[in-house]
Amino acid sequence: MNKPIARVALDVPLTREFDYLATDADSSDIGRRVTVEFGNKPLIGVLLGLAEHSEVALEKLKSLVYIHRETPPLPPECLQFLQFCARYYHYPQGQVILQALPPALRKTTPWKPRKSRSTARPSPSLSAPRPSLNEAQQNTAQSILEAVLHMRFETFLLYGITGSGKTEVYLNVAESVIRLGRKVLLLVPEINLTPQLEARVQHYFDSTPVVSLHSNLAGVARVKNWLQLSEPGPLVIIGTRLAILAPLPDLGLIVVDEEHDPSYKQQEGLRYSARDMALIRARNASCPVVLGSATPSLESFHHALDQQYQLLTLPSRADTRAALPSVRLIDLRHFPPHEGLSQTAIDALDQTAQRGEQSLVFINRRGFSPALWCTECGWTAGCPRCSTKLVFHLKTRNARCHLCGWTQGAPHRCPECGNPELRPAGEGTQRLELSLQERFPHYRIWRADSDTMGRKEGFTQLRSALLNQELDILVGTQMLTKGHDFPALTCVIVVNADGALFSADFRAEERLFAQLIQVAGRAGRADKAGQVLIQTRQPEHPLFQALLQQDFAAYAKRLLEQRALLGFPPYLYQALLHASGAQSEQVEAFLSFAKQSAGTPDGVSVFDAVPALISKVAHKYRWHILVQAKERPALHRFLASWDVALREKTTPKVQWVIEVDPQEV
Ligand code: ADP
Ligand code: ZN
Ligand code: ZN
Repeated sequence: MNKPIARVALDVPLTREFDYLATDADSSDIGRRVTVEFGNKPLIGVLLGLAEHSEVALEKLKSLVYIHRETPPLPPECLQFLQFCARYYHYPQGQVILQALPPALRKTTPWKPRKSRSTARPSPSLSAPRPSLNEAQQNTAQSILEAVLHMRFETFLLYGITGSGKTEVYLNVAESVIRLGRKVLLLVPEINLTPQLEARVQHYFDSTPVVSLHSNLAGVARVKNWLQLSEPGPLVIIGTRLAILAPLPDLGLIVVDEEHDPSYKQQEGLRYSARDMALIRARNASCPVVLGSATPSLESFHHALDQQYQLLTLPSRADTRAALPSVRLIDLRHFPPHEGLSQTAIDALDQTAQRGEQSLVFINRRGFSPALWCTECGWTAGCPRCSTKLVFHLKTRNARCHLCGWTQGAPHRCPECGNPELRPAGEGTQRLELSLQERFPHYRIWRADSDTMGRKEGFTQLRSALLNQELDILVGTQMLTKGHDFPALTCVIVVNADGALFSADFRAEERLFAQLIQVAGRAGRADKAGQVLIQTRQPEHPLFQALLQQDFAAYAKRLLEQRALLGFPPYLYQALLHASGAQSEQVEAFLSFAKQSAGTPDGVSVFDAVPALISKVAHKYRWHILVQAKERPALHRFLASWDVALREKTTPKVQWVIEVDPQEV
């Protein structure tokens, strides 16, 4: 017998489901998109189930307008996972489910399969034939393979130094999964890495379909690829974090490459961690998940030490010709920099270029911004809408806010004291590029930062310039520290390493250390020896001493001991309640209600409301409350009941969201 009531999830900030008359829906429609009338407007939703009864009187219910049978329903495993996500992150289920769909499927217009403009497949690179795995790689692959064959959920932490051949291991195991007719999900932290990897994977597998999923895909192509995931049969999926929310039937393996990378965490809306959710999906699918990194997150490393995860290690470079780079510290107190660079660094750049090799001049953005300042009174240009400094751009002579986009011309004199001498503080990438061009007019110097890399072609051009040796010196920020491979790049200079040592964020040291190990990993990956020069005013800091040893594990253990002592994650669990609004008093009032209604829950500490580190963005005041617990269940029990209380007090004047496992506090 047909059940007459349709339960529908809608993309609205309410936790409940909505009832409609099901008309001709049957159980095969569960998981399908449906068009409904909501507030007299058509709205897309997803059918969650059919029921006999509704709490709403039948005559008040509207009928479903349209059932979108032109696309397959979300499979049950996917729906259940998204519902888990909603509970775990305390985020409205309808918003989780609808936002997991490709944007073109969030519309009420029926999906007509159109021809997507053929996305030019990256031509398979002419790389060498598959190397046979070395002994360490074989052992690693064997352990993972065993879990694959037994269809056993298990988490592996593949800790392998840069260039140790982690990717070859992933591909080797993936091949077995494909032979079993199952699917492999390969997550990468950055869109720029997908075409490269896609080419490498395609080359490795010939006939197995490879599909990518990331936000740079045009609407039609994204839907096409997304729909392909639901089809039966073997498939390799290469995706950024959003791929973890897609339908993934017959999953045989998940790999999270560069698992430490902060971009696995979404920082707005549903603030999920694709890495953490990968574990949930693997558990649901009874398959192994591999977290790979040369610099694992302390969270993952901790779990490996206490044997929740199986630790697999690749201790040396796969290409035996490629030695680890030599690391040297340059004490800026004794060798003062000119225009940001010490003489030692300048000499190294010169010698490297003379050998026909390439250098990377790396600027650490954290705790650093090239703001415009007055040499007389110390005035700096701030954003009128946010509580941040404007970043000065030399070419356009504009000052721009990197949070809200506010742009203004740079003033010709100081608005406070009238002094005409305003200078960009610090060494912005552009400034460094110009001073290097003046010093080395005969070398080819490129700059890579979010300005030049924002465009899609930017990275592709840079990559080919590096590979074809069309550049000598590259000035860049963090995006270059991720797993790219450039054989002629033998020298890395870290201009300003110290900023993060003074940061208020307890993760800043971990991040700096990971970043420096990663950036050092860029130097000398092939047969040429590499060198890394780090400019610092604190060479005696334990972080730099550990870096000289290139011993991640020892330093990670040290940081973990500190965390345990001070009571930080991973030794306890955190959540943040973020609130923002145009009126500071209203935000404060909401949070004081929140604090009060929290009471004194068992095993959970609720702190006082404090302004966010950047306390104002685009005219909105931002505050938060930190919540901590020793046990995860206690934290989630508390958040669930708190969420209910907060929703009752919601006003349109204050926007709020709960963030579970925040990465920045
Ligand atoms: P990772 O992912 O750990 O950075 P890759 O898998 O990209 O390392 O390997 C680094 C380099 O070493 C690549 O050029 C790769 O082709 C090569 N390589 C990997 N495994 C082997 C091997 N067993 N023998 C020789 N070269 C290898
Ligand atoms: Zn701003
Ligand atoms: Zn002044």
